[in-house]
Amino acid sequence: MSLHKNSLLIHGGIDGDETTGAVSVPVYQTSTYKQDGLGKMRGGWEYSRTGNPTRAALEKLIADLEGGKYGLAFASGLAAINTVLSLFKSGDKLVVSDNVYGGTFRILDNVFRNFNITYEIVDSSRTDLVEAAIDESVVAVYIETPANPLLTVTDIAAVSEIAHKYGKLVIVDNTFLTPYLQRPLTLGADIVIHSGTKYLGGHSDTVSGLVALNDDVLADRLYYLQNSIGGVLGPWDSFLVIRGIKTLGVRMDRHVENALKIASWLQDSGYVQKVYYPGLKNDPGYETQKKQADGPGAMISFLLNEKYDYRTFFENLELITLAESLGGVESLVCHPATMTHAAIPEDIRKKVGIADELIRLSVGIEDADDLIADLEQAIKRSEKN
Ligand code: PLP
Repeated sequence: MSLHKNSLLIHGGIDGDETTGAVSVPVYQTSTYKQDGLGKMRGGWEYSRTGNPTRAALEKLIADLEGGKYGLAFASGLAAINTVLSLFKSGDKLVVSDNVYGGTFRILDNVFRNFNITYEIVDSSRTDLVEAAIDESVVAVYIETPANPLLTVTDIAAVSEIAHKYGKLVIVDNTFLTPYLQRPLTLGADIVIHSGTKYLGGHSDTVSGLVALNDDVLADRLYYLQNSIGGVLGPWDSFLVIRGIKTLGVRMDRHVENALKIASWLQDSGYVQKVYYPGLKNDPGYETQKKQADGPGAMISFLLNEKYDYRTFFENLELITLAESLGGVESLVCHPATMTHAAIPEDIRKKVGIADELIRLSVGIEDADDLIADLEQAIKRSEKN
């Protein structure tokens, strides 16, 4: 029976445990499996780096949610990115969105570049610039949308059409919206990546990464790389992410409802110069976002007016926590220039518009009025003398 998205969150993948009837997928906390004779494995389970039933349930689940045939789970979002980038070889080049998570930039710049896999950053919201950057050596276009931290929106279908015209792959980091709000494979992308640490896990209690795709040949190679590189997600963390995903729909609805209220309040408050949030009608990404996703997500970035000091603002928050990461039930705030995007050299940060004063807010599911009250009191107390 074909299920709608809220039912899929709960019954997608492998629903419960066939052996015992357990309603929730058990934690198969084992490294290896008894073989009944040479080559006689029970159910094909051999060794838990290669495959584990709890991880397999999550892998099937992310595939179902993204509308893909295959799913893979990793020890972190970056382990997922590492494995996907390992598809490429020396001499290959990637076209990459100009504001991506700092760790993505770091692995491209300081790890894969050493193997002569290079990259060019472009404003991927401009399809003409993406097309202009594609040459013979380019193998893939790698985008985040909305991107971290400026929430720039890229038209996934338009970029996929251009990339495919030249025979290039499209890889989309879908961390900020999750498949509940946006399904890049259904818009033409080839590979979807997640930091499951964020909304999918949803409770700031586990680090994980996920990949989903449709192509049989690419999937074969990725399973091979997953086993060869070995950055797999453990059974307990797989269980936590499955458990998180069950409530993804109700959480995302509330995250978005709160973010819409807070972004509008910030914009009208007189306290800020600029709000970056594709849910606001005057945001440059608004129309594209509406076309390709079921909601704008709950990440907001903003710049305070000059009379307020952003450092003092961070210190004065009482409810909202200053911390790396995002996507948990609790609201978190961060300073991209020194935290999530510190790995990007200052000149590039400036060039792509990540100002030192930029504040990034991951809106949680507390009462929006309490969050607004906290923001307001912290802003007022941060006024420069
Ligand atoms: N992609 C995005 C958009 C992120 O924000 C992050 C982490 O913040 C990652 C990937 C990396 O994920 P992880 O921290 O799980 O390795």
